[in-house]
Amino acid sequence: MRQLPLFPVTVVGSLPRPPSLLEAMTLARQGRLAPAELEACVQSAVEAAIRLQEECGVDVVSDGEQGRPDFYSFIAQRVDGVELLSLKDLARHVEDRPLFERLLADLDIPLSSVRLPVVVASLRRRDSLAMRELQRAQRLTDRPIKVALPGPYLLTCSAWVQALSSVSYPDQEALGRDVVSLLRREVEDLGEAGCEFVQFDEPMLADVAFSEPEERGNMLRAALSRRVDPDRELAFAVDLINRVVEGFEPLRTGLHVCRGHCAAQDRIRLRGSYHRLLPYFGQMKIRQFVLEYASEQEDNLEALARLPDDREIGLGVLNPRTAEMEPVETVISKTRRLARAIGPERIFLNPDCGFEAFAHRPVNTTTGAAAKLRVLALAAARLRRSFAES
Ligand SMILES: [Zn+2]
Repeated sequence: MRQLPLFPVTVVGSLPRPPSLLEAMTLARQGRLAPAELEACVQSAVEAAIRLQEECGVDVVSDGEQGRPDFYSFIAQRVDGVELLSLKDLARHVEDRPLFERLLADLDIPLSSVRLPVVVASLRRRDSLAMRELQRAQRLTDRPIKVALPGPYLLTCSAWVQALSSVSYPDQEALGRDVVSLLRREVEDLGEAGCEFVQFDEPMLADVAFSEPEERGNMLRAALSRRVDPDRELAFAVDLINRVVEGFEPLRTGLHVCRGHCAAQDRIRLRGSYHRLLPYFGQMKIRQFVLEYASEQEDNLEALARLPDDREIGLGVLNPRTAEMEPVETVISKTRRLARAIGPERIFLNPDCGFEAFAHRPVNTTTGAAAKLRVLALAAARLRRSFAES
């Protein structure tokens, strides 16, 4: 593990994809572009994404998730037993179809435009989830690389749909066992290959913690209206993640939670403070919690001091969904506040979320993302200077 400067600057995962890549992805999906041609497009997009991060001063870079259609459905391409179903197909199988359709209408999502991974048979790894992404990125940069993977709770709970999954897995606990094995193998491979930061994306934890049963905030959850006891769900999430990461210290592991993964507009984003999750975070054997503190009104950063003192915070200080630029002074003062509460050595700086978690739903432009990342790097440089002097 290489030594990093104070306040390392990183990204949460995705960066905007170039229009040529989006077009190539569409053509490939329709069978009108050969895999090798798609790969060439991905390769040049990853190269551009990495150059952009280097130029903007990002210390721990990602491949911008350029090769993925979104942050988690790509597992259907790499694991047998997982199929992508459109929401229209899925609606036929969910337990509470009226609720599901009402939420989709609220979210303004056409039933046919989104496809979710669903377990339809026993899982079998056909290909590594992210090794090729790591190796491609390693050929393009000397900087430490972060790889994001869908978290075990997301995979277990969003992909298990009783009508389709119960033939192979009677319940989520049974599926969880195979998901844990799948992810453990991946973490082991990534660590051995020199990956320096593996982040698990668990947006559904926000959903479990913040939404009331009668107003479940997003479509993933809507499809999953079976279990509504948040404490039981969160305990299950802790157990799954701990089984995935056990024995892999000192690899830096991270857990990213955010409240707006499916929603472009702020009005349908979940609201709520992370306090509810802190006791569960404290039980997770995860090194870093990558959280959003830019786009949320309530931001009692000091509460993070309740976490065990060997844990880091990936502090979200930029809203990836807006064109307005956060003033560097705001980023600095927020970071200072957290540094007073938990010490400067435990803080990474990052945006609240990816810049393009879904390829079909960009939330920013490449220029906008670059400008925001430069703000982060500038804030980090000033903070480092002042902490070195003090
Ligand atoms: Zn996010």
